[in-house]
Amino acid sequence: ERERAIEEADQPATTVDGRTIAVLVNVGSVQDAVEARGADGSGLVRTEVLFGDRRTAPSVDEQAEQFRAIARALQEKPITIRTWDIGGDKPLPFLPQDQEANPFLGERGLRVFRRRPQLLRDQLEAVRRVAAETPVHVMFPMVTTADEVAWALDELGPRPDGLEVGIMVEVPAAALRIDTLAAGLDFVSIGTNDLTQYTTAADRTNTAVAPLADGLDPAVLQLIDHVVRRAGVRVAICGDLASDPQAAVLLAALGVDELSAVGPQVPLVKERLRHADLGQIDTAAVLAARDATQVRGLL
Ligand code: PEP
Ligand code: MG
Repeated sequence: ERERAIEEADQPATTVDGRTIAVLVNVGSVQDAVEARGADGSGLVRTEVLFGDRRTAPSVDEQAEQFRAIARALQEKPITIRTWDIGGDKPLPFLPQDQEANPFLGERGLRVFRRRPQLLRDQLEAVRRVAAETPVHVMFPMVTTADEVAWALDELGPRPDGLEVGIMVEVPAAALRIDTLAAGLDFVSIGTNDLTQYTTAADRTNTAVAPLADGLDPAVLQLIDHVVRRAGVRVAICGDLASDPQAAVLLAALGVDELSAVGPQVPLVKERLRHADLGQIDTAAVLAARDATQVRGLL
């Protein structure tokens, strides 16, 4: 089955009932993009991983060069650059952070830059440069409030033509208030890894509570459903849930427009979508399920 999926990887993921879902790839290196088969672009460029081995901050030029290389490796299909997402379990040597009692609830993602905006400004300069040459989307991680969105848009400044701007939805407060937060944006992308962690209050790095942190928990699915209904803009999923072909079909049935998966899963997710009849999926029953186990049973 894997071989067939890889052979057909470049064909679109059009479901039996005629919906075409964009399937993109998550990358943390140029190599990830080179190796991707069948991706309709990148739905998540993890910049803190791309430059994770640097002892000093990369210059605007260096960042632009890496972004260009990723875009070229994906045949200039759109790439979605996520601004620095550090804190929590992700340190960066060139941005020392204060010790915190609860790093996952502390200065993470966009929050880090309210006190130190220069690193973000440099990155946005690189994004704007590359966006003038090739299709680029930019998104901000760990957003909680409309005020943060306004601040980030202000830091971005005038947007070059074609640069799409979005936020990640990883915090339940952002999911619940998505109509307000997404006003004025082009898209939102749900980070199911963190959204699951914060919805279930289960540390994503702690194996003792891993069974609680299940992306198919109906509580998480209800938040995703809410975002799809209320965002008013394109909705993507770039968390690991999108890499699970069975979950991918459900996400498409809930109305998600775009999925971004880890490289090896892209052909498999596309293949499964091509065999899916989304109209046959009882999304109401899934959302009302008792727990993730029952959701899997329904799927
Ligand atoms: C997520 O939280 O789902 C996500 C895609 O971001 P990361 O895994 O890099 O935190
Ligand atoms: Mg995240």
